[in-house]
This record gives sequence, structure tokens and C-alpha cells, in this order.
Amino acid sequence: MDNVKDRVKQIFTEYLRINKHRKTPERFAILDAIYSIDGHFDIETLYGIMLKKENFRVSRATLYNTIVLLLDAKLLIKHAFGNTAQYEKSFNIETHHHLICTTCGRVSEFQDEELQRDITNVDLKKFQMSHYSLYIYGTCGRCAAAARRKRKQIQEKEKK
Ligand SMILES: [Zn+2]
Ligand SMILES: [Zn+2]
Repeated sequence: MDNVKDRVKQIFTEYLRINKHRKTPERFAILDAIYSIDGHFDIETLYGIMLKKENFRVSRATLYNTIVLLLDAKLLIKHAFGNTAQYEKSFNIETHHHLICTTCGRVSEFQDEELQRDITNVDLKKFQMSHYSLYIYGTCGRCAAAARRKRKQIQEKEKK
């Protein structure tokens, strides 16, 4: 894990140098915080983590600005689920897919070797794939159970 943090720090340092951006401690603190998060997060979650964990007072503007750089440096992925933008670290993570509940917005992940084999074997013509991820939309177990309970309540009321 610490190796990953060292590697992404190197990559980011190199990216900032080549693109003539300043190497500020805030930017590296944000990178470090992001690589400490498991799974997905939105800007507000990251902002909260930065306030609590790191000794840096970063503004939301700095956060946004750094996220744009990290996306460009391919160290971060932006997901398109839900209403708010969700991000996820991208370096050295295994291919996984997402189950998105359209009722509560919860996102969970799964992996599937068979799927992975199939996609590797798809003929993409001259397209060079860097990464991929499936989004499967539906209702999570918790929301499905809640809906069942509600239906039952209504039915019982109607009986009386
Ligand atoms: Zn994910
Ligand atoms: Zn749900």
C-alpha cells in the first residue's frame, strides 16, 4: 500500500513538472488522502476527510483544481453515477464493476473473472483499451426489502 502511495507521488511529481504546475504540499496531501480512501467518494466526502485527517486547510477551489490535475494525470477516475460526481483512485486497482441502486444511490463493487475473460477477447478493431468498468443499475437488497415491507403494510391495512 505504501508502495502505491510512493509510486503515485512519483507519477504526480513528474506530471506537475512536465506541465509546469507548482508542486504544492496541499496537492500532495490531497493525493495522499485520495489513495487512503477505499472505493468511491464525492468532493464533499474528500473535503471532510481533509479537514479531519490532514493538517491542511484546503479550500474547495484547491480541491477541485487538484482533482482536475489528477484526472488529467490518469491517477483518478470520474464516475458517472448518481447526481453528484463520484471519484475513485485509478492506479493499481483491479478491474471491477459497479452495482448502482437507483433508489438510495448506494454503489457496490463486484469482480467477475469470466466477464473479464470475455471482454479481453472482444475485438475492438484498432481501439486500444486502457480500462473499463460496467455500471449495472437497479435496486439494492436493502431497498428491495424496504419496498417489500411497505407493500406488505399496505396489503395488511387493506385487509382490515
Ligand atoms: Zn469502483
Ligand atoms: Zn438502495
